Amino acid sequence: MRRLTLPLFVALLALVPVVLPSSAEFYVTLLNYIGLYALVALGLVLLTGVGGLTSFGQAAFVGVGAYTTAWLTTAFGWNPWLTLVIAFAATTLVALALGFITLRMGGHYLPLGTIAWGISLYFLFGNIESFGGHTGLGGIPPVSLFGMELKSGREFYYLIWIALMLGVVATQNLLDSRDGRAIRALKGGVVMAEAMGVNTAWYKIVIFTIAAQFACVSGWLYAHLQRFVNPTPFSLTQGIEYLFMAVIGGVGHVWGALLGAGLITILKQWLQDLLPKLLGQSGNFEVIVFGLVMIFVLHRARDGLWPVIMQRIERFLPSGGDSRQVEPAEALPRRDRPVGGDTILEVQQVTKRFGGLTANNSVSFTVRAGEVMALIGPNGAGKSTMFNCISGVNPPTEGEVRFLGQRVDRLLSREIARRGMSRTFQHVRLLPTMSVLDNVAIGAHLRGSRHFVHASCRLDRDEERRLRAEAAKQIERVGLAEHMFDAAGSLPLGKQRIVEIARALAADPCLLLLDEPAAGLRYLEKQSLAELLRKLRSEGIGILLVEHDMDFVMGLADRIVVMEFGEKLAEGLPKQIQEDPKVLQAYLGGVE
Ligand code: ADP
Ligand code: MG
Repeated sequence: MRRLTLPLFVALLALVPVVLPSSAEFYVTLLNYIGLYALVALGLVLLTGVGGLTSFGQAAFVGVGAYTTAWLTTAFGWNPWLTLVIAFAATTLVALALGFITLRMGGHYLPLGTIAWGISLYFLFGNIESFGGHTGLGGIPPVSLFGMELKSGREFYYLIWIALMLGVVATQNLLDSRDGRAIRALKGGVVMAEAMGVNTAWYKIVIFTIAAQFACVSGWLYAHLQRFVNPTPFSLTQGIEYLFMAVIGGVGHVWGALLGAGLITILKQWLQDLLPKLLGQSGNFEVIVFGLVMIFVLHRARDGLWPVIMQRIERFLPSGGDSRQVEPAEALPRRDRPVGGDTILEVQQVTKRFGGLTANNSVSFTVRAGEVMALIGPNGAGKSTMFNCISGVNPPTEGEVRFLGQRVDRLLSREIARRGMSRTFQHVRLLPTMSVLDNVAIGAHLRGSRHFVHASCRLDRDEERRLRAEAAKQIERVGLAEHMFDAAGSLPLGKQRIVEIARALAADPCLLLLDEPAAGLRYLEKQSLAELLRKLRSEGIGILLVEHDMDFVMGLADRIVVMEFGEKLAEGLPKQIQEDPKVLQAYLGGVE
């Protein structure tokens, strides 16, 4: 049933111009506009809904598409298909440049940058003489397809909706891939994703550029549908309206773009007729209503209307099965491992200061391949800070960290991950609405290499099968097979920690950093975790472990480092540590 939804919808769409009588031309026009707007909103679903980035400048990108073709076709007589390529290239360049400048600064710079971009382009369109100033440019030629000129709205309808459907399918494909997982991690999971090797800044630029490209295509279509352009439809106000569409429709859902564009367009039509009559004067009063509707929708359904509607409908549909299986696939290649006993991690006099607070003070220790090194100490001793120093999440103020013989203390966490270090977090960092399988597959990010364009065209299926199979293997290994397809956030906290271990293992690491992995586990679960860690150790993986459960640590660790107040208090074999009077004094408060 689910698989039939899209073909049925497309068939219905295809019939519209055939079925509607010529007296209903208005509805064809309306659908054309909905299609054009939905294409822009689709980009915002990816950018804002999934990626968590806000752009007010989409209308300006629509303008780039429209004005490029308007100008080049009228002034130079160029073929519209050629101008599409040029407009696409120009948009890509602008989006990349704008993305590089604003996205690296993070925070509010993207919204502000896109506002500035939207305003300046609007005035640019209005003030360039060869663009016809505020009166605009007319006489834009129609588009020809297979020798047929698409002059009427009915003929153009197909072009618009084919473009939109291609956009929808490409976006869905992209989101359901290795790149899609990385993109879905951008909203609230940047630290985790970077530690798994994801270049988050790059993915932000990618989705910003894709959203701009969708807007550009919409603008190109618009220019050849209207055969006339002026600056008004590309203003900042329109940019905000596109955001309304995406947010009201369902900001994280591909089909929400269509719903939002449809609702807003129809509502606008209706309000523009009704409100001036009611109020007795003309003006853009509909914007006020949109604002109120937006507040209401955000209050009642934070994720927009699409998920709410789907929830209602889904009760009547058999549940979809396709994403809930893992197909067998060839195992991914594994990295070369250091020989057991070799030193793989050297921490040398690492100091980390937070303002006046010294969280780590000149701490040194080593970890060897095939051993479990435990880092213990009271709360606030600086253990998690040390993990962040080692893994590049929060680099040390002074001192050196060497991993596999090379200095890594000035590298980004994703570069360290690439070298074979993987970690879990004390405060679990999973993407709660994503399945356990998808979460774990993020760990294998660096073991895939297909480009996001491949993903959009479904040319990544081979690799994707292998990544999913790897994730499934690690989930089974840590004993969570029954939760494979559950939302990660629905698991008890102890099990979420185990999911983090599976995610770290999916990276095929040679050094594993585990920050309090046994917290929240029951006795038997702790025992099977200890069993797993012993097995990993026997495979030659080095494990650095922070843990408060002393039975767990003493039964497992080969060596122990004790920390207190940011300093190393003692180091030795478990037996030595247990008998060390300094440790007993500090750690157990002097209990005999
Ligand atoms: P542990 O993991 O051993 O319990 P932490 O490494 O989390 O200890 O913390 C050590 C000290 O550093 C604490 O006093 C904590 O408040 C401080 N600290 C940790 N992270 C930060 C940070 N990002 N900014 C400021 N202080 C921090
Ligand atoms: Mg800690």
